[in-house]
Amino acid sequence: MRRILVTNDDGYFSPGIIALGRALEPLGRVTIVAPQTEASAVGHALTLRRPLRLEQVSEHVYAVDGTPTDCVNIAIDEVLDGRPDLVVSGINRGLNIGDDVTYSGTVAGALEGALLGYQAMAVSLKSTPGEWDFEPAAGVARALAAILLEKPLPNRTFLNVNVPLGPVTGIRVTVQAKRNHITQVDRRLDPRQRPYFWIEEAMDEWEPHDQSDRQAIADGLVSVTPLQPDLTDHKALTLVDGMTRGLVPASFAKAGPTS
Ligand code: MN
Repeated sequence: MRRILVTNDDGYFSPGIIALGRALEPLGRVTIVAPQTEASAVGHALTLRRPLRLEQVSEHVYAVDGTPTDCVNIAIDEVLDGRPDLVVSGINRGLNIGDDVTYSGTVAGALEGALLGYQAMAVSLKSTPGEWDFEPAAGVARALAAILLEKPLPNRTFLNVNVPLGPVTGIRVTVQAKRNHITQVDRRLDPRQRPYFWIEEAMDEWEPHDQSDRQAIADGLVSVTPLQPDLTDHKALTLVDGMTRGLVPASFAKAGPTS
């Protein structure tokens, strides 16, 4: 029987991960290993300076007091009785699109799966002001999981799936949108008059792009972006090579006093 590892960054108790686990059950043996408390926006963090605890919550559900990346590693080394056929992270409360994927703990869970050599996918649902309904996104996750199990992606490639609100009407393969980052840091004073800070999600200024994940969601379509861990800007190799070609050992010597 196939082994499917499910994680997230919202916590093992999140309705999104419960819906995802249930949706994947027909495809294999589902084991949930997820953070004990919410770990959204922790990115690909790995906990190295404190011990991690693993708690079995129910027969197939485990909680780790760490990050999604911690969860994937502990799941594979300590919980599963063999290699997972698929790692699925989600269903996140809120989209993980464009440049924001670099902050996402949800995407990092899938990224870790891909780095370790497994088929992997992250699934996120657009935020709603009303009741959360994870069922349409869970159906998308099951359909795509079935495909990955039958036709695996190349090594180190994984899927970032984002689902709009409402019934699913279609799917589009996308690229990451680019956002002009205007982060606002709000400075306030505590009762002892010492400053503290809140990072605000400031104005979103997205570059328009017909094939972007953001545009797919705006058009009411499921967005599927193939991602890879390699952040190398391959088209800049020649440029940087030219910039650095004049450097010789003497260039790195301690600078003397300028006359
Ligand atoms: Mn989250």
